[in-house]
Amino acid sequence: MTKKNTLTLSKNAMQEYGYKIVDTIVEHFLTQDEKNPIAIATRQEMDKLFLEEAPEQSSDPLEVLEFVKKNVLAQAGIPSHSKFFSFVPGPSNYISAMSDSLATGFNVFSGGWAASATAAELEIVTINWLLKIFKFPTKKGGGIFTSGGSMANLTALVTARKQLLGDDYSKAVIYISDQTHSSNIKAIRTIGFKKDQVRIIPTDMEFKIYINKLKNAIAKDKLEGLQPFCIIATAGATNTGTVDPLSEISSICKEESMWMHVDAAYGGAGILSKKGAKELRGIEKAHSITIDPHKWFFQPYEMGCLLVRNHKWLSSTFSEKPEYLKDVEGNESEINFYDHGIQLTRRFRALKFYMSIKTYGLSAFREAITYNIELAEELEHSIRKSKNWEIVSPAKLAIINFRYNPIGLGFNESKLNTLNREISKRVMISKKAVLVTTELHGQVVLRMCLINPRTTMKDIDETLDLCIHFANAILGNKNSTA
Ligand SMILES: *Cc1c(COP(=O)(O)O)cnc(C)c1O
Repeated sequence: MTKKNTLTLSKNAMQEYGYKIVDTIVEHFLTQDEKNPIAIATRQEMDKLFLEEAPEQSSDPLEVLEFVKKNVLAQAGIPSHSKFFSFVPGPSNYISAMSDSLATGFNVFSGGWAASATAAELEIVTINWLLKIFKFPTKKGGGIFTSGGSMANLTALVTARKQLLGDDYSKAVIYISDQTHSSNIKAIRTIGFKKDQVRIIPTDMEFKIYINKLKNAIAKDKLEGLQPFCIIATAGATNTGTVDPLSEISSICKEESMWMHVDAAYGGAGILSKKGAKELRGIEKAHSITIDPHKWFFQPYEMGCLLVRNHKWLSSTFSEKPEYLKDVEGNESEINFYDHGIQLTRRFRALKFYMSIKTYGLSAFREAITYNIELAEELEHSIRKSKNWEIVSPAKLAIINFRYNPIGLGFNESKLNTLNREISKRVMISKKAVLVTTELHGQVVLRMCLINPRTTMKDIDETLDLCIHFANAILGNKNSTA
């Protein structure tokens, strides 16, 4: 026999190593908001730090850990930072971070009932919580946790295609809007639809899909012998927080026997607040909903979720019965989640969701989400009173878009665009806040996605002051007027 290595450590070494990691994470949770939320580095700088051949020889575990703490973690961006305003932040929470460590530590296989009944049961239970929250039928309905919203959207489209179309989907057409998240387009391409099987419908002044244009497109396609098949509605557009007219879309889908998928990846969690629930009215009429617990349900990466009205749609789409899995099949009610989605081996995602909601209670989530929505509204209110700033798209599901446009400046659109782009650039270079621009109807705007419950008005004010400081520097003004 050759020398055997079981990749183990002594009990003391494991404990020392583990406690150090917990201390590191706790320290990070306590100090993250004092750090810079952004890390900027070139490939060259990174290569200089890390590029090497895989080492044949072992190293002291604590030395490797220290190296990683200093060079990897200390120089990573912080999506849970209270001044991380862009993209969709990942506020996370400590309980779930620890739960994830447990799931990984025990390496629980979350694929089939036989491998771990508890993992499957907790996924069933937490999916049921979500079905109830979204007013989906709890007995018939179902769902699955995925790596994120992109995979949930992909899973939804595969399901819709299997349920509504046969093997020949060459005439099928999918309808999206110009605000639909790019992951849907990726998913459409991934499953083999051609570009000319997708209709991108324009949106109105509020960035909602034009219902009439949608209806016209469907009518035209039918006339041409095509098969309108699926509408992907957005509930919480990533740009503006806008929710498409869900009830009207549902009526069209009913009338035309089409599938209604709602991409509510970031915005869906808004349903836990009164205002958000009002915005999201009609979401319960969908065939399927994508939500992203690693966004506004405060879970660490990776956790997305697909909900469907009828759990059988998932099993009849995805189950394959290879001979080596026959022995482990349970009865109908004992779900093998490998039969409900694309992955066979799956990490135990449900655990963090379960433990965080058990620990904090749903009311804590409701309060956090309500606070986020109100924070964005408060910001809108204060911007409307200010002479420096202009609202471009109002506070919706904790997202707001505005631009620097002081009274008396008299800049044309092109100059305002350049100015706001430059402000964002300088904020990013300062590393004090993550605030990038987006474009709305040709206007370059600063966008804030305020889904972090630790973000305060003070964080926002400090960031706006920083913007004004840079604006004055760009414009050559000596006196700043905050
Ligand atoms: C974030 C987002 C996605 C993609 O989700 P991932 O978790 O990043 O894969 C899809 N749709 C919308 C509306 C989103 O906001």
